[in-house]
Amino acid sequence: MKNKNVIIAGAGPVGMVAALKLAKSGVQVTVLEAGKVFPKDLRASTFHPPTLEMLDELGMAKELIQDGLVAPYWQFRDRAKGPIAIFDLSILSDITPFPFRVQIEQWQLVEKIYAKLINFANVEVLFEHQVIGARQDGDSIKVLTWGPDGEQTLEGNFLIASDGADSAIRKSLAIEFEGFTIPEKFWVITTPFHFEDHLENLSEINYVSDPSEWLVLLRNKAYWRVLFPMYEDRSDDELMSDVAANQQLQKLLSHDKEYEILHKSIYRVHQRVAARYRVGNIFLAGDAAHINNPLGGMGMNGGIHDAWNLVDKILDSTKNNQEDLFDLYERQRKTIAIEYVQKSTERNRKMLMASKSSDQEDRNAEWLNIINDPEKTKAYLLESSMFNALKRAAEIK
Ligand SMILES: Cc1cc2nc3c(=O)[nH]c(=O)nc-3n(C[C@H](O)[C@H](O)[C@H](O)COP(=O)(O)OP(=O)(O)OC[C@H]3O[C@@H](n4cnc5c(N)ncnc54)[C@H](O)[C@@H]3O)c2cc1C
Repeated sequence: MKNKNVIIAGAGPVGMVAALKLAKSGVQVTVLEAGKVFPKDLRASTFHPPTLEMLDELGMAKELIQDGLVAPYWQFRDRAKGPIAIFDLSILSDITPFPFRVQIEQWQLVEKIYAKLINFANVEVLFEHQVIGARQDGDSIKVLTWGPDGEQTLEGNFLIASDGADSAIRKSLAIEFEGFTIPEKFWVITTPFHFEDHLENLSEINYVSDPSEWLVLLRNKAYWRVLFPMYEDRSDDELMSDVAANQQLQKLLSHDKEYEILHKSIYRVHQRVAARYRVGNIFLAGDAAHINNPLGGMGMNGGIHDAWNLVDKILDSTKNNQEDLFDLYERQRKTIAIEYVQKSTERNRKMLMASKSSDQEDRNAEWLNIINDPEKTKAYLLESSMFNALKRAAEIK
């Protein structure tokens, strides 16, 4: 494998985890990133325990824990009544050395990995190299890029397309991105305001149900991020104003001063899975292969699990077993995206948005039923922390 060259399109968390794992195994790696620098948008901020285990194998978990916020608790909460079920991940301490989530921005992982990659002679990270498309030509993959020096074609033995939800490679291979777009927009407001001093018994991660407006309150080391669904027909320009953001936070917690707003974003949410994860030696991974709502923190985590699975298979591949191994990557990871990530995230959204009082009562009873029984709590945490998804993938032959 050492004389093979793997090209990785896109230096997001998925591409960079793949790059570091390959680099450590001595494989020649070329990472192509469209941006001049790494994007610093505020997106994934939750790392689940099994992802921390993988990152630990790469020597990255300690740094994330040190610079991030360790979150042993998360909760389901009612906007009016307060916490309904507070989950304590330490119940998993016999299963994982990381019985907590870590809250830290995904771009921090990317930058930390880059700081490691620059020490590897077998890796190059090329910025301002926008991938336009790719095709397989015999044993060789040809990747067309556009950058400051114009058009270029790079050649490699394998290509990992981790170029995000709008993947140019997925499109160039005419792979369908099947699924749907949910009706509401998501509005995310970031503020350094200390909600923990004002809302009773908050955890670091709070999924807050409400018949008219559910929300999510997520804490990072320096700020809180609040996610609201936006059903009303208000323009993005209006929602992006500090005035609107302040009014929205005042509705959540009325406060005599204006909120300091650090950041706002509005985005459309899709639930989609690529029809194929592989064409020859070209593989889709991460958001290029599947996208979902952020309720449960499974997009980036699931994408990193793709990278892990795929790199193991690339490293194990020989001329004779290659086809079987690479088909298995698609079977395992596509199944998880459909059966597990898509279902869990949609179920979370439906639970939070339940508006009929009978549905709310059923949902609250279900959460209480889980939290009042340690066995059920443990089983639920194995599911929501994505351990079960990895176990299920490993069972697929
Ligand atoms: C508000 C929000 C909150 C979220 N919260 C969570 C969470 O808590 N937990 C979680 O697991 N997930 C979460 N997600 C999802 C998560 O952000 C994505 O699943 C994750 O970023 C996917 O990583 P990726 O590396 O596949 O793609 P990306 O992060 O999109 O990275 C793609 C990279 O490819 C580059 N690129 C794009 N096109 C090209 C091209 N043509 N050529 C070369 N380079 C290219 C981009 O510049 C980028 O660097 C959230 C998403 C949002 C929007």
